[in-house]
Amino acid sequence: MTALLGSGAHVHAPEFSDAELAELNRKFESAPASAVIEWAVEQYHPFMCLAASMTDAVLIDLAIKVEPSIEVVFIDTRYHFPETLETVETVRRHYGLNLRVLTVAPQPVDLWQADPVNCCSQAKIAQMERALVGKLAWMSGLRRAEAPTRTKAPIVARDLRGLVKVNPLATWSDLDVSGYIADHHVPVNPLVEQGYPSIGCRPCTHPVAPGADPRSGRWVGQDKTECGLHL
Ligand code: SF4
Repeated sequence: MTALLGSGAHVHAPEFSDAELAELNRKFESAPASAVIEWAVEQYHPFMCLAASMTDAVLIDLAIKVEPSIEVVFIDTRYHFPETLETVETVRRHYGLNLRVLTVAPQPVDLWQADPVNCCSQAKIAQMERALVGKLAWMSGLRRAEAPTRTKAPIVARDLRGLVKVNPLATWSDLDVSGYIADHHVPVNPLVEQGYPSIGCRPCTHPVAPGADPRSGRWVGQDKTECGLHL
């Protein structure tokens, strides 16, 4: 696997076959998230970033304890809740993060109104492609317990680009997350307490009833359950 750097130089990293990835997944299934992060950092740092949604900072808290300089990426679609943008700053200050905010260029019209079908790909995915230039791998806080569509999420996989995608929290339950937040005083987006267990852009995120599918408040009324970032 090779990443092209801004200087034009190439960096090489170990290739993992499908069988080796399957073996890693078996091994990590019962491993702590920190062990998964340690493996990923050892293999790919500094050619790896962590994509943060800023619902909470659990993955960030774990990752910076392994590697304080890890690059954390936040995609500012320009359609976020003010509370989410405040959480970005809170988390940045709290951890002294190596934070990279990628902001969508101003649009003449609101994409989510003018072209809701393609808004995610034009806003979120296009910025993620920028974030991944020169990278060999990326991490996300995706969990199987978050939605019926995520129940089979692997811990380590190859994404559609051929980069390695690491989900260190894949096996975590909601209780694991709330327990870690309490034990480690992790910053949380204030919207979580207001009935938003899964937080995306303001026009596409609604509160959900207690006990309901946490992601049922996303893209309400649309034939869409994922923005495409995790495909
Ligand atoms: S979540 Fe909604 S507003 Fe945000 S990028 Fe996707 S379609 Fe656009």
